[in-house]
Amino acid sequence: MFEQAFSDEDVAESDLVTRRGTFRAVAFRADGHEHMALVYGKTKLRENVLVRIHSECMTGDIFAAMRCECGEQLDAALNTIVREGSGILVYLRGHEGRGIGLVSKIRTHVLQDEGLDTLDSATSLGLPVDVRDYSPAARVLKHLRVQSVRLMSNNPDKIAALESHGISVTARVPSLMTPNAHNIAYLTAKRDRLGHDLPQVEEFTTLPHAR
Ligand SMILES: [Zn+2]
Repeated sequence: MFEQAFSDEDVAESDLVTRRGTFRAVAFRADGHEHMALVYGKTKLRENVLVRIHSECMTGDIFAAMRCECGEQLDAALNTIVREGSGILVYLRGHEGRGIGLVSKIRTHVLQDEGLDTLDSATSLGLPVDVRDYSPAARVLKHLRVQSVRLMSNNPDKIAALESHGISVTARVPSLMTPNAHNIAYLTAKRDRLGHDLPQVEEFTTLPHAR
């Protein structure tokens, strides 16, 4: 599928100096949301560009919530990109709670605190498990003229989704965060019910401190 380039009015970019270094901030509008690609170093017309496609998670990313690993993955991805000297972090809005929105996500937390997992807490409210759309990420990667990517993700479905939008993924780079007591149930459900590759979950649950 060919993704349209953005019209000039839907994209803007500038340098963005951060604590980690200077990125190119590429803001763009797609599918009713405003997203951001943070570009570090030279990526244009390059192969095997290190890329993280990060789903917005206000509670994890901004407030460092421990019930998911989003904030840690965001930090780790940016650190890895800077350490490697180049890469792109695409930050996708409209992805709260795998697409159900912030209010609904917080509502699922109540059910999770009563023992339901991350999937059942959504479906019991009549909400979908995952309705995230990765086409805005594919579009911006094409706009940035990236030739192929190494994707930082534990989710094989994300690779399939990107490839279905015409992005060549040459490798998957695991993004394994150390579990904690607050997110182990969440990570276990992601591993067992969503097919994420999370070998560190087994390690955590077999350690004596988890019992
Ligand atoms: Zn999260």
